Amino acid sequence: MLTDPELLSALPVAVLVTQQGVIRIANEASVTLLEADGPEQLMGRPPADFVHTIDKLRSSNRIHQASEPEQAGQANKPSEFRIRTCKGNLKMVLISTVAIALDGAPALLMCGMDMTHQNEIQEQLRESEQTFRRLFESMQDVYYRTNAQGVVQHVGPGVRRVLGYEPHEIEGRTAESYYPQSSDRDAFKAAIMEHGEVSDFPGQMVRKDGTIIDISISSHALFDHNGNFAGVEGIYRDVTQRKNLERELQRLATTDMLTGMANRRAFLELAEATYQRARTAGEPLTLLMLDLDHFKSINDRFGHLEGDRVLVEFARTIKTHLRASDTVGRLGGEEFGLLLPLTTPAEGADVAARILDAIRALELTDGTGHSYRITTSMGLGALHLSDRSLRDLLDRADQALYLAKHRGRDQLAMIDSGGPCGTPLTETPH
Ligand code: GH3
Ligand code: MG
Ligand code: MG
Repeated sequence: MLTDPELLSALPVAVLVTQQGVIRIANEASVTLLEADGPEQLMGRPPADFVHTIDKLRSSNRIHQASEPEQAGQANKPSEFRIRTCKGNLKMVLISTVAIALDGAPALLMCGMDMTHQNEIQEQLRESEQTFRRLFESMQDVYYRTNAQGVVQHVGPGVRRVLGYEPHEIEGRTAESYYPQSSDRDAFKAAIMEHGEVSDFPGQMVRKDGTIIDISISSHALFDHNGNFAGVEGIYRDVTQRKNLERELQRLATTDMLTGMANRRAFLELAEATYQRARTAGEPLTLLMLDLDHFKSINDRFGHLEGDRVLVEFARTIKTHLRASDTVGRLGGEEFGLLLPLTTPAEGADVAARILDAIRALELTDGTGHSYRITTSMGLGALHLSDRSLRDLLDRADQALYLAKHRGRDQLAMIDSGGPCGTPLTETPH
């Protein structure tokens, strides 16, 4: 029997049975729901007493409908109602009503489920979803996830700003097409496979408009429940500005501002690498050291600014005689170094002779229209098997330069370390 008191009290849902508009039976769950002291507090009261004014009309319509003879035995569709409990608290309750017979007379059985907390949870879910959405939409980084084949499964809206694509244009394609250098992508894959994750991994990508940007990726590998690689998830960000700044700082730190050549530090670094390569490969390497003659007098006669202009002209002239593989740098005030890989001393001497000629031929004019010429002295040092370090080569070129000055300037001198006394001197004709 539906209205068996034991059965009703065992039900986890609130049940009220009404007859002639008033409550006749109230189970324990309904007492709890309506915050009554006991069932007797509910007996004899119309259930409408507990329905919030806003929902009263809808409630009475539904009760009326449920009582229609054609509805007998069929519960109406559950609907939510605001309920005010005996203690005055508001609750949201999902109620369904069915017409039954009680003691041979028509009655209504109402079944109620407290949805108040569900609503709160839903509200919380909605709020956290909104917060997440806002965060996701405004994120400067691009969130992405690929499958094991590298096909992009999901990409965040940040991709519009970073790559200029709509997310749907990226999803379903592999990331390969956005990498200008496949080596970047290969290095990333290798790092993910080796470490399972990467942080601030550098690379480059191509934007929809074709421009190349620097990116930094932080990602981790995904695995399925069998432990098989299932893809990659992470973020990438546009670090072009930072990289440009780094490149600019690097340029400033390695360039001589006046001549645009490598500065002393950068020249020595490049020279060290070239020296090591030549030694290992057993290839010839020639170093030329240049120092402008009587440069102090240029400054004295025409002023420091004119001296600067001379240095720029001098540097430009040297450069026109160099190959792409040669390294040139400003070692100090009016002193320059030229490193000529795969060049024998004799070939180096030829280069030096051409530069000496070009400098002699330079026609310079000061601010007042007075024209003048300059010369330079040069020392040549060649890589020798007995050299222990680049220093030996530099010293030899330096000594040769000193010798060229000593011998009257405007000439090349070379020191051959291979002689029996260690430093027999040779002067090339020009
Ligand atoms: P030498 O033939 O023996 O090399 O004589 P020098 O006058 O060239 O040599 P010295 O070393 O006595 O003088 C070099 C001069 O170069 C002194 C310095 O004022 C000048 N100098 C160094 N750096 C710069 C620079 O950046 N600009 C200008 N205008 N002059 C510089
Ligand atoms: Mg000088
Ligand atoms: Mg000098």
